[in-house]
Amino acid sequence: MPSAARSTPAHPDSGALAVAATGLRKSYGDKSVLDGIDLTIPTGSVFALLGPNGAGKTTAVKILSTLIRADGGEARVAGHDLTRAPQSVRAAIGVTGQFSAVDGLITGEENMLLMADLHHLGKTEGRQVTAELLERFDLTDAARKPASTYSGGMKRRLDIAMTLVGDPRIIFLDEPTTGLDPRSRHNMWQIIRQLVTTGVTVFLTTQYLEEADQLADRIAVLNNGKIAAEGTAEQLKRLIPGGHIRLRFTDPAAYRAAATALREVTRDDEALALHLPSDGSQRELRSLLDWLDSVGIEADELTVHTPDLDDVFFALTSTSPTTSVPGQTRPAGHSKENAR
Ligand code: ADP
Repeated sequence: MPSAARSTPAHPDSGALAVAATGLRKSYGDKSVLDGIDLTIPTGSVFALLGPNGAGKTTAVKILSTLIRADGGEARVAGHDLTRAPQSVRAAIGVTGQFSAVDGLITGEENMLLMADLHHLGKTEGRQVTAELLERFDLTDAARKPASTYSGGMKRRLDIAMTLVGDPRIIFLDEPTTGLDPRSRHNMWQIIRQLVTTGVTVFLTTQYLEEADQLADRIAVLNNGKIAAEGTAEQLKRLIPGGHIRLRFTDPAAYRAAATALREVTRDDEALALHLPSDGSQRELRSLLDWLDSVGIEADELTVHTPDLDDVFFALTSTSPTTSVPGQTRPAGHSKENAR
């Protein structure tokens, strides 16, 4: 809450669902972008919508924040019906991201005061809320400078601060850290975590799996217009049955010998690497090493790979939506190995 002095409005959604959507559809021309998606987001949680570029994440945010209309389906946001009570939805939400409201020609402080005016705060209250939020987002020193001179991270912070002037219960953050350097990204994560401690619900879209893993209580993967999977990060990781061991060779003869002798391996002939399904346990590693020794084959590198959200993402978004989650390891180019 930006100011303790402000009255706390009654929130009809408190304790209930922040977003409840069923069968949302949207097409552009003959291209179906959202093909009937359901979303259930409890109040006070962080929800991440993940998907490859063009999957329809922004379209979903635009629909739920009343910027565009869905072609079909129903949704309640903060307890209000999207089509019957769009004004009530708007009063309860804040949207930041790709359609940022920051005006670069005026100062950060002026941007904030403009927001306070839009929300009909009195002069004194507007100034007080502005000062508090600028302080909270570490923008006090830059408050009197034009927003166009701000760094990417500062602009995002100002954008969120401006959104909070309206005291929203649900905040839509469309790719809040895209283009930020690692330090600013971590800063933004802290800000998002803090928001949630005040009871705000966060609806986040992101291309970064790590971001969803770090922040989200629940994650939905959007692919081909459908929710391909939904759950906690842990539940999603469990969709991928196991990790693998990767053996890399420099000697083509050794590579071929191992590839022929070992069953259930996936070959990467170009990299001279073999992937073996494995839980990465000491017992499995020892038996593999013993076997390599016994047949006199020497691998140049052995790495153990445990499944992570990247595996889930690649598995889900590289197949058609009707295909069940494959247990395969992803293609070599995408591997993020944990060397041990
Ligand atoms: P994401 O946010 O996941 O990258 P978007 O929701 O922005 O995806 O876009 C989904 C698809 O819808 C893309 O193929 C995009 O080109 C298309 N699209 C989005 N907005 C429009 C529009 N106004 N007119 C036509 N096509 C659009």
